[in-house]
Order: sequence, then structure tokens, then C-alpha cells
Amino acid sequence: MIIPKEPKLTKEQFEEVVSIVEEYNCRIQPIEGHHRTIYAVLGEERETIMVNRILGLDYIDRFDAVDSPFKLMDIHSELAHHKIKIGDHIVGESPFIIAGHCTIDPKNPNLFIESAHAVKEAGAKAIRGGVWKPRTMPYSFQGDDSSMKILIEAKEQTGLPVDTEVMDDHQLQIAVEAGVDILQIGARNALNYSLLKQVGQATADKRIAVLLKRSIGMGPINEFIAASEYIAAGGNADVMLCPRGTSPTMDGYRNYPDESITPLLKDKTWAPVIVDPSHSVGRAKFVPSAAMAAMAYGADGVIIETHCDPKRGIGDDPKQSITPDVLRKLIQDIDQIWEIRKHYKKELPVTA
Ligand code: PEP
Ligand code: MN
Repeated sequence: MIIPKEPKLTKEQFEEVVSIVEEYNCRIQPIEGHHRTIYAVLGEERETIMVNRILGLDYIDRFDAVDSPFKLMDIHSELAHHKIKIGDHIVGESPFIIAGHCTIDPKNPNLFIESAHAVKEAGAKAIRGGVWKPRTMPYSFQGDDSSMKILIEAKEQTGLPVDTEVMDDHQLQIAVEAGVDILQIGARNALNYSLLKQVGQATADKRIAVLLKRSIGMGPINEFIAASEYIAAGGNADVMLCPRGTSPTMDGYRNYPDESITPLLKDKTWAPVIVDPSHSVGRAKFVPSAAMAAMAYGADGVIIETHCDPKRGIGDDPKQSITPDVLRKLIQDIDQIWEIRKHYKKELPVTA
């Protein structure tokens, strides 16, 4: 990781650094923070001659080699203090709640707009709405490009940032051009490394955050963090990790709830953790307790399927969506959990 003396390298300085590292088969990935840009060296960054040549440049402050497979996402990386700003919200400073439909019904745009206003009023900080959906059966409704207009209409009317899942390059381009604020990478694509790279590259320098779901069969914590490293190495470090339940399921729930991995993730990576209790437990009546558990485990927020009239929803909404009234109460309770958590950080620090 190269840290320049000034907040950013000039074009000429950047080119000089690139030409040096390329001699050693490395490449440079600039990571733009809010106040400064740092330059990740991807490849064998410990090559002594290369390091010394870089350190010899009078505009370079430091060269930190990261002793971790996660050069960018590791808790000890240079990005450890990186903050992700979405809309007016700095993730980590207060609970980040994303709420809205599983799926936008293009035949019924007003329902989504009504839910968007209702979740804002309930206290959500961002709106979710599936434009395209990964479905088990190819004959089920797959979503529709036309729903993007409805999502952006909700963003304009409420002023809140919006989140949607993308599964391929076509969807990625449409979402980036339309002004989507959070790109969701779903559980089925969390190990699709080509897509993860593409998403990192397409969103570099664009202030678009990525919400990376945990894959359905993902085991080791490192596998999840490594997937997020692909996005950051592509050029976008605004990555948030989203446990959403794994398989095999816990009998009675949709998946095996995994909000309890939050502290393990936080031990290893600085990335914010936004838990998805909706897909984890899969039934509206179980969602509030799963959401509160996630916050008690130390999550930075939750993403919750919420619908103003779940019976009229499509996709997961009829079974999984809570109503805006439940969301309002839940957000009040989450705010209290957020305060309670501080006891264990400040008054009773636990170190072992
Ligand atoms: C969703 O958020 O609606 C969804 C399909 O999630 P996942 O990828 O976690 O299944
Ligand atoms: Mn869903």
C-alpha cells in the first residue's frame, strides 16, 4: 500500500509509480477515500528493490506491506478507518436500516412508491427494491428492466438512497447509469468472482456502495472476506458484508440464521456488517427478533423486506415482508440496542 505525502498523486507521479511496479509484475489500484487516495499494490508487494525504489520518490510518505491475504479489507489495512457514506448517512455512526420490497411489481408501481414513503417515515435510511430477481425456476417472474424507473422515482420522491440486486453486466450498466446508490450482490453470486471484479471496476470512483450477501453455502469467514476483497481490488472499497442465512436450513426457518458471525467478521475486517434477517428466517413473524439479535451481535444495520400491503406483494413479500408499522417500532428498539451496546465498548471493555 503506497501512501503519498499529498492527498493524491498527480498524473505524472501516478504514471511513474505504475511504471516501476509493472517492472515487478505488480499493478496499482487507487482507492479513493473521502480525504485522501491510497494506492494498493496488487501482486508480490514485498519485492525489496521495488519497495526501495518507490520509497526513494520524494512525493511518497510510506509503503506499508500488509501481512494478510486481505490487503484492502483486513482490519489492519490502511483502509481500517475508511468510512462509507451513503446519502447523508455515514455507515457505523448510527444504525443503517435499509427497507422496502423484495421485488418491485412493474404492473403496480404505486404500491412501491407508497412503501418507499412509508419506510422513510418509519425511519429507514435507504430503500430496497428488487428490479431483477434470481429465481429458482426459469418460468417464475424474473423482474423487469422497466422497474428501474420506479426505483429511481422512489429515490427522487423520498430523497433516500436506493438498493437493488444486479446479477450480470447488462443489469450492472443499467443500475450504474440510473443512479442506484447500493448495488446488492446476491447470495447466488457471492462467489462469482468475474462479476465481483466487474462490479468493483464499474463502481470505482462513483460513490456507489456494494452490499455483498453471504453465499448460501459459504462456510469459512475468510471466504466471505476474500469475496469482498475482489470488489475492493477492482477499485471500490465501499463494500458492506451481509450475512443472510446459509444452507442447510434450520428446520422451520428459510435458512440457517447467521447473524452470530457478525463479531467474527468484525474481528477480521473493517467492513460494515448489514444483516439480512428477512432471508435468514424467511417469515415476517420471526423477522423482528432476528433483526434485534443481529444488532445485539454488533451489526451496523439491517436490510429488511417491508411492504405497505404484503398480501399484494410479489416475490418474497407476501411471506417475508413486515409492515411499515412494525418497522417503525423495530427501528426504535434497534436504536435502544445501539445505545446498550456502548456499555461493552466504553464502560466494560472486554479484551480477550
Ligand atoms: C433478496 O434480497 O431479495 C435476495 C434474493 O437475497 P439473497 O441473494 O440473499 O437470496
Ligand atoms: Mn427477497
